[in-house]
Amino acid sequence: MPIQTPSVTERFTAAPVPKRLAVLGSTGSIGRQTLDIVRHRPEKFRAVVLSTNTRWELLARQAAEFLPDYAVVADERFAEPLRRALAHLPVKVLSGSGELARVTAGCDADTVVNALVGFAGLPPTVAALEAGKTLALANKESLVVAGEYVMELARRKGVEVVPIDSEHSAILQCLTGESSPVRKIILTASGGPFRRLPAGELENVTVEQALAHPKWEMGAKITIDSATMLNKGFEVIEARWLFGLGASQIEVAVHPQAVVHSLVEFADGALKAQLGTPDMHLPIQYALTYPERWELPSDEEFSLTRCGELFFEEPDTEKFPALGIAFNVLESGGDRGCVLNAANEEAVQAFLAGRIRFTDIARVITHCLDRIPYGELPDMETARECNALARRTAADYIAGLQGR
Ligand code: MG
Repeated sequence: MPIQTPSVTERFTAAPVPKRLAVLGSTGSIGRQTLDIVRHRPEKFRAVVLSTNTRWELLARQAAEFLPDYAVVADERFAEPLRRALAHLPVKVLSGSGELARVTAGCDADTVVNALVGFAGLPPTVAALEAGKTLALANKESLVVAGEYVMELARRKGVEVVPIDSEHSAILQCLTGESSPVRKIILTASGGPFRRLPAGELENVTVEQALAHPKWEMGAKITIDSATMLNKGFEVIEARWLFGLGASQIEVAVHPQAVVHSLVEFADGALKAQLGTPDMHLPIQYALTYPERWELPSDEEFSLTRCGELFFEEPDTEKFPALGIAFNVLESGGDRGCVLNAANEEAVQAFLAGRIRFTDIARVITHCLDRIPYGELPDMETARECNALARRTAADYIAGLQGR
């Protein structure tokens, strides 16, 4: 007789209560909103790990409120002040970025919320999956850099990767309850702050202008990625790995109202979409309660009749070359996503520091993809080497741009 595997619903209901969460990047935008959800339902969730890169004071306040088993600060310089601040509490303080992957694997969380930014999110992603923990993933770079490796690892370990990214959450919500083949998915994009700016003026936009996202409040790095539209390119790659689709099955539609969070088209031509106000609490909570739905801590009412006109248009890949680059990277596979991500991280940092122009970001990426020969990405060691090489290549090129 075949063994009956429990359904997702049964597994969720049978899980010990409260669900134990490792919240990696708890002081960032996604991390803070995750803790809103924990605060709202202490009987359902307990945060057992909290972490920050540098914001140790906020981490200390969070740790005093949520009393996790571990508080981790990646930047060693802040280990001592954090330790002093938490000396009177039963919270173990760890420091260093290597500790984060170790504690992710070793803690007794059943779900890891990975809200880290950039390549730094990959080692904890791998550690969580290796340890058999459910991964609620906001760190899309994990899948951009090593999507094939990460999803194969999840499959081998029988672990779920549940997206927090709003578009991918929308797609998961559309797919839930369906078993028929998907024809394609349509990722919606707000278009960022420069949607209506003439292409010729992009060269001279300021950091401040690029950071003023019209719809979503997010961290600096992802906000710049949204302005170049590389964020959408990353999301195309993320969708490819999360949902096992080909590049030709993924479309992008610019939808400035940000009401429709994404769509799925099925074999019969039916389109399903998920709509709502742009509030990340929903996709975060859905990743934690999937496939159930619970009331949100902040229940902002959504009114369809007050949305006004909704429209959808094709993205301008000439004005925003990063989106086209991401599609090419997806087709090429191997280590191209790792090079793309590393070059972008360096370029965005340089742009935020006022060292290069906005339009240089795509130039840095193109330079690195051209300069570094294609390779496979069979393991994490190769990913680390490729990441380091691409960062050096980008840094050299940026230094040259500054001498213009
Ligand atoms: Mg998104």
